[in-house]
Amino acid sequence: MPAASAGAPATYLFEPRDARWRSLCEVDVVTVDSVHARAATLVEALPYIRRFAGRTVVVKYGGNALAGTAEHDALEVFAQDIVLMRLVGMRPVVVHGGGPQISSLMGRLGKQAEFRDGLRVTDAETIDIVRMVLVGQVNPQLVAAINVHGNYAVGVSGEDAALLRATPRDPALGFVGDVSAVNPRILTGLLADEFIPVVATIGVDGTGQAYNINADTVAGAIAEALGAEKLVYLTDIEGLRRDVRDAASLIRQSTADELEALVADGTIAGGMIPKVASCIHAVRNGVGRAHILDGRIAHVLLLEIFTDEGIGTMVTVNGVLK
Ligand code: ADP
Ligand code: MG
Repeated sequence: MPAASAGAPATYLFEPRDARWRSLCEVDVVTVDSVHARAATLVEALPYIRRFAGRTVVVKYGGNALAGTAEHDALEVFAQDIVLMRLVGMRPVVVHGGGPQISSLMGRLGKQAEFRDGLRVTDAETIDIVRMVLVGQVNPQLVAAINVHGNYAVGVSGEDAALLRATPRDPALGFVGDVSAVNPRILTGLLADEFIPVVATIGVDGTGQAYNINADTVAGAIAEALGAEKLVYLTDIEGLRRDVRDAASLIRQSTADELEALVADGTIAGGMIPKVASCIHAVRNGVGRAHILDGRIAHVLLLEIFTDEGIGTMVTVNGVLK
């Protein structure tokens, strides 16, 4: 039967005659567009999914990012990203800090936090507090957030299976350690069993003494020990800046040599120093590339890994992408 016979206009879909039809048609158009956009996003991700399948990505999650932002629950969004990476075949390893949380518990216990050159002076009482916070509070928080989406995350301390061997950095700092060796066996075992390791950065020396080790340094050392494809730092700034006060001075791409010069001339300062030093060391020692990203942007990990858009700062050994 011809569509226009019984007086019904045949042009409904294309020229809506009244407001009700118009709005329905508009909804249709929007829906089709957004479905296409979603499909395009998934297709865009395809080559990245293929390329990173089976590859290890070490992600350092900062204590500041853990505190969350007003716009979204940062921890929940981070957990979703990590699980998605795992589900498409990547091998994510999470390394976390917890500076603000340590200072907070010290305050509650009436102990004054003291810093020298950005490093926390760590006496015997403080290392106990550091361990309580990292292994007893922050680590299980991350593990629980990830495991909302399945049974993937396993928390480990650097003391477990002597994952992180430490040596004292400077007697004046107490139990602040440097990584002297990484024994990645516990991580390779967990990864082979398809778990997501979540590492608290307590190190241990040959006598069993615990040390507080900077989480940025640990993330780099673990990325090297695992021969990771990527090392990612999630922090509270959009990336490296040529001038720390100028948001427009973001450095999108850099090399180990360039960054070494920026550290030497003081462009890189404060909490950026251990990140950049680890990036330089890691890309010179087999890690494919390193990224410094803004952990305050929801799903920044997915944007970096699965889209064509460059985001934050990317560091390679010599500018050549492997
Ligand atoms: P996290 O908790 O992620 O380790 P930090 O505070 O230790 O965070 O390090 C990030 C901070 O480093 C930034 O908020 C910024 O103030 C500082 N910073 C110093 N130099 C630079 C630079 N050149 N570019 C960007 N950030 C810098
Ligand atoms: Mg820091």
